[in-house]
Amino acid sequence: MENKEIIKAVEAYQNAKVVHPLTCGNDSRHSNLVAEERTGQVVLVCLDCNYVQIFIPDCVLHCQDVIKKMEEDIERMQKAQRFSPYTTLLHYFEVMDKFMDRILKRQKDDK
Ligand SMILES: [Zn+2]
Repeated sequence: MENKEIIKAVEAYQNAKVVHPLTCGNDSRHSNLVAEERTGQVVLVCLDCNYVQIFIPDCVLHCQDVIKKMEEDIERMQKAQRFSPYTTLLHYFEVMDKFMDRILKRQKDDK
């Protein structure tokens, strides 16, 4: 993945309404981490305290399509008023949990 793509993926993840954003390791109340290129490598930075995180979870880079689809689905369902927003979100958190489990398991199997 190119650095530009990684930065875009992190931005999309941080703006997604269906996942918990990546937050500062010093204080999770600080603003969400931002992807920046530093000496050729993309790192996550807290603009409030300069906390730097080098590790970017795989699921942040590889679940953009799923997140996008989930957001579209939620919007469609809410428009159709088939579910209350609360029910819809609960359903999607369940889906997301399973998805994350699968990714984590795959990462473990790869090792
Ligand atoms: Zn911070």
